[in-house]
Amino acid sequence: MSSTKSYAAQSETTPLTPWTINRRDPKPTDVQIDIKYCGVCHSDLHFAKNDWGMSVYPLVPGHEIVGIVTAVGDKVSKFKVGDLAGIGCLVDSCRECHNCKDGLEQYCSNGWVGTYGGMEKDGSGATYGGYSKCILAHEDFVLHLSDKQPLEAIAPLLCAGITTYSPLRRWNVGKGQKVGVLGLGGLGHMGVKLAVSMGAEVTMLSHTPSKEADAKRLGAHKFVLTSDEEQTKTVAGYFDFILDTVSAQHDYNFYLNMLNTNGTMVCVGAPPPAEPIVPFNLIFQRRSIAGSLIGGLPETQEMLDYCAEHNIVSDVEVIAMKDINEAYERMLKGDVRYRFVIDMATL
Ligand code: NAP
Ligand code: ZN
Ligand code: ZN
Repeated sequence: MSSTKSYAAQSETTPLTPWTINRRDPKPTDVQIDIKYCGVCHSDLHFAKNDWGMSVYPLVPGHEIVGIVTAVGDKVSKFKVGDLAGIGCLVDSCRECHNCKDGLEQYCSNGWVGTYGGMEKDGSGATYGGYSKCILAHEDFVLHLSDKQPLEAIAPLLCAGITTYSPLRRWNVGKGQKVGVLGLGGLGHMGVKLAVSMGAEVTMLSHTPSKEADAKRLGAHKFVLTSDEEQTKTVAGYFDFILDTVSAQHDYNFYLNMLNTNGTMVCVGAPPPAEPIVPFNLIFQRRSIAGSLIGGLPETQEMLDYCAEHNIVSDVEVIAMKDINEAYERMLKGDVRYRFVIDMATL
């Protein structure tokens, strides 16, 4: 056991404060990482505040983890000490069910283990995330990172990147398609960059007028202010695909009507509680609404390699660990351009 500094929420009503956790000694298949940076996902905030009613405290959030390998077990073959390495939202799964065998560990039939707020499969206790100095995981759940891109800007790819990449691939988004990305935050800004890189015509759907210039800078071809009725009329029945990344309650029916015949809206944003969906909005134009959860390990590595090849990273604001509570407040106000990343040297 090694004691490790971290920041934890002790309850749903208390701010994050310093806390010490005990990490296990490396197992033969484990990779141990000295964490350099950890991205701040809106899911961290949902979990810290128990928005989804499933949080277990103390809770150490953080699942956009990047750093340097400091130790490897005897049976580790894919990593060596000194390598750059990342951990996303998963640290274990059953590895035996059909989904695990297909590299879809995020849909493991027997339950995957989250990087934080989960329970280790060997019964050794709770998992604690990346708002800490070090972490260990089985090598199968550790990702290789490019050394050609800034490390802090790669961190958000481990969740925001894969969560947007996976549905764009699954629904074959590409040239000739009209894509709407709803919500310009951590996920949304990666959704824009990735959909543009895949050749789609991309429209940013945002309720924040001041984000228009940024949306264009990120590559969006159009910007629609969702609070402006005249602007939204121009995209009625327009999109082949909408990626909904909004973290707060919103009316799905309003956006479903922006889909063309056979269009699909994929929800990755997970606001509590959900709004009802009116079936007629699906029926009349044979539209679909779907969901998508992060991505499996093989696809996460594919996405990291794709981003390295296409020179795609996240736009980040690096913060000190002590400023995490303020960052959460700013995130709730939509005041993040476009991902906070914690510099772990400040812990
Ligand atoms: P974020 O950076 O806070 O961005 C959320 C964006 O939603 C905001 O920037 C804002 O964009 C929009 N928004 C916020 N409040 C709104 C409101 N009241 N009405 C309309 N739009 C609003 O959050 P994130 O880290 O990207 O995460 C987004 C959501 O995805 C969260 O619910 C998170 O838990 C979820 N998530 C899901 C997965 C998955 O696997 N499915 C993975 C990671 C995260 P505009 O200002 O442009 O309108
Ligand atoms: Zn996340
Ligand atoms: Zn499984």
